Order: sequence, then C-alpha cells, then structure tokens
Amino acid sequence: MSAPKKLFIKTYGCQMNVYDSERMAEALGGEGYVETKSADDADMILLNTCHIREKAAEKVYSELGRFKGLKAEKPDLKIGVAGCVAQAEGEEIMRRQPLVDLVVGPQSYHRLPEMEAKAREGEKVLDTDFPEEDKFEKLKSRPKAKRGPTAFLTVQEGCDKFCAFCVVPYTRGAEVSRPADRILREAQDLVERGVREITLLGQNVNAYHGAGPNGDLTLAQLIWELDKIDGLERIRFTTSHPNDMQDDLIEAHGTCAKLMPYLHLPVQAGSDKILKRMNRAHTAESYIRLIERIRAARPDILISGDFIVGFPEETEEDFQATMDLVEEVKYGTAYSFKYSTRPGTPAAERAQVDPAAADDRLQRLQALLTKQQREVQDSMVGREVGVLFEKTGRLPGQMVGKSDYLHAVHVADCSREVGELARVRIVSSGANSLAGELIG
Ligand code: SAM
Ligand code: SF4
Repeated sequence: MSAPKKLFIKTYGCQMNVYDSERMAEALGGEGYVETKSADDADMILLNTCHIREKAAEKVYSELGRFKGLKAEKPDLKIGVAGCVAQAEGEEIMRRQPLVDLVVGPQSYHRLPEMEAKAREGEKVLDTDFPEEDKFEKLKSRPKAKRGPTAFLTVQEGCDKFCAFCVVPYTRGAEVSRPADRILREAQDLVERGVREITLLGQNVNAYHGAGPNGDLTLAQLIWELDKIDGLERIRFTTSHPNDMQDDLIEAHGTCAKLMPYLHLPVQAGSDKILKRMNRAHTAESYIRLIERIRAARPDILISGDFIVGFPEETEEDFQATMDLVEEVKYGTAYSFKYSTRPGTPAAERAQVDPAAADDRLQRLQALLTKQQREVQDSMVGREVGVLFEKTGRLPGQMVGKSDYLHAVHVADCSREVGELARVRIVSSGANSLAGELIG
C-alpha cells in the first residue's frame, strides 16, 4: 500500500471557512489524503481565504510567494487557493502567481476531488461557478471518524442584503438554505461521532428557510428538530441579522433548553444616518427594542456584536451615537473594525473618513467594549453554569471548556472527561477566562 498523501490547509476568516476546510479535508480524505500541520511535508497546500477586509488578496499573494522554494524542491507539490479571494480574483491568481495549480470558489468545493486529479496530471484548474446543486451533499465524507465535542454545521449561505460596505453577496452569492433533512442527518452523524454541541452557521443564519416535509422551516423550527436528537446537548447559531430575528426564534431562546444563552447580533453603527447609508434597513432604536424583547424572553442572554467605525461620511456625532448605543446595550463580547474599502461595493465610491480619526474612534470604542466585556465576565463569579469540557488544561488534572455563555472556564482537580457537560460554580475571573469548581 502506498503512503497517504499529505494535505496542509490554512484557513483564514470566518467560522464558515473553518467548516468548509473540514469538509474539503474530508472530501480529499476520500482521495487518499491525510491532514498535516506543516506545509513543509505536504503534497498539497490549500489556502482557504477571506476577502472581507482590505489587503486580503495581497496577503494571499505574499503567502503564496513563500511556497516558491518548497515547490522548487518538490515539483509534485500541488498548490490551491479556495474561499472568497479565489472567487473574487479568479484567473488573476494563476496569472500573478504561476505556481498555483488550482483555484476553487466557495460554491464549487464538491468538485475538488476531480480538480485535484486534473492538477495531478499537470493541468491548471479553475472553478468559480455558482452551481445549483448542494455542494455539501456532493462532498464525500470520511467514514465515521471520531470528533471533538463541538462542531460547526453550515445551514445557510450567501446573502441578499447588500450592505454598502460588504463583499459577501458578491463572493458567496445569493442566499440559499440547505434542506432540513440533510442538516438533521449531518447533525445526527456528528453526534454519533462524539459531538455534543453544534453551532449552526450562515452569513444570515436567521434568514434560514430550508425545505422541510411540510413546507419551509424557519431557523427556530430547525432548532426544535435538532433539539430532538439524543446526545446533542447544546445548540448555537451565528451570524444573525437584526431584521431576520423572528418571534419564534426569540421565543425559542426562552423555551428551548438546548439553545444556549448567547446571541451574536451585529448592529455595525449607532447613527441612523450611517445605518441608512450602510443599507442596513434597521435603526438604532429598532435594534435596542429588539434586544429588549430578546432579554425579556431570556434575561441572562449574553449579547455580542459587530461594529464598523470610520464608515464613509461618519462624523464625530455619528460615532458618539455608536458609543451611546453600546452604553445602552451592554455587550458581553464584540468585534469592532475600522472601515475597509472594498472595490466594487457602493461605499467604496464615497467620501472616506480621515484614517487618523477612524483609528482614534476605533480605540475609544474598543476601550468601552473591553470594559463591558470585563464587567460581564466578572459578573459570572458566584454563578452556576454548564461547562462542556473540550480539552485538558496546562496543569495536571485541569480541564478546560466553554460555559453556556461561551466563556472559557478551567476547573482544577477535575474528574471529568473531554465531551462531558458539568455543572460548575464560577469562583474567579482572570484575564481571558474564568475558574470554576465542579458542583456535586
Ligand atoms: N452577516 C453578518 C452581518 O450581517 O453582520 C456579518 C458578515 S461579515 C463576514 C462579518 C463582519 O465583518 C461584519 O459584521 C462587519 O462588521 C465586518 N465587515 C464587513 N465588511 C467590512 C468592511 N468593508 N470593512 C470593515 N468591516 C467589515
Ligand atoms: Fe455582509 Fe452581513 Fe450585510 Fe450580508 S447582511 S451584506 S453578509 S454584512
């Protein structure tokens, strides 16, 4: 028997890319590849790229440049570019970097095994189509390999919202939901392989409307179906859009015990003028009212968000409105970015904010968000939470896992195994994690 070929995948960007990389590795597993953690001993290198912010493509080109020596030493080494930079740049990648053998857009991964075979025969292969078929159904899975306790599962892809700053509708295409039966089958399979927590993924996950036996299912209905799977203990979802936060989903946060009390709900800005120019179709006020309704259904829910500062035409007053909104909502965690011009998006053509002013605003916003994050984390001390253990800690007998609220928690002298869900009392709050002790 010949030695397995080695595959090195480097993943950039969002959780959806993490999921895609896992599925690509499984599909190439069917072609005799095993994963390696080092590019140096790989027979195939895949960069799964992200295009959300500036210089993404340049970073990919410079990373590719570093493989020149490797390719000279190993002429059989195949190099591929996947993900949103592949979609956006297409053929240009092979023109600018001739050592690339294969370029595959996010909607064509199921064709990867065929593409790999052609690349092995010396062809240069490119596929950036948006085919009709469900790529995840066509992707081959490896037989029942054991997995860790948490997994991502993509249920919806693409976006029709066209926020004025965002490339996703162009790189990931129109919004498509996977049929419910396929998701449930995949979830069942993950649970049989040891998974206890599933995070449902989508660029607009709460716009989910996949086909069910009696018509389309909403995300909440899908969650209730997943709730029936024995052995699945926790359900999360990300990323949601405020405009798709339907009543049944808010209600599920109050009534579905497996649905964790954590919600990532990006607002982007607090000024109605800027929100309108962003094409967000919600106001600061409607967002705040929505958060109130969600907290009425699940008072302890931890709210997370995304923010962009320095969006074209943002004044100091507009920025203050973002700070006011943050003060009002109180975020448990958040991601904040300086606006980054994306060619081809409407905002790219508008009057840009002075970069020094944008830097200063980002610093002020991050200081406030960090303070809130600290307060929320510290407020966990003395509380009892569920913790799903994911790995052993650095100290002997220590276990590390995530709380219901997604805080990292470590427990000393812990008699539990990876994959066990335990009740834990939080005893102290450190720099980036909590310490707890087992109850009972
Ligand atoms: N679909 C999600 C939503 O509606 O908010 C988020 C998708 S996007 C992959 C993740 C985050 O990247 C966005 O919420 C936004 O804050 C940020 N982002 C997107 N485009 C950006 C840009 N041009 N400049 C800076 N940040 C950007
Ligand atoms: Fe991008 Fe999200 Fe807006 Fe869609 S809703 S365009 S993914 S930021």
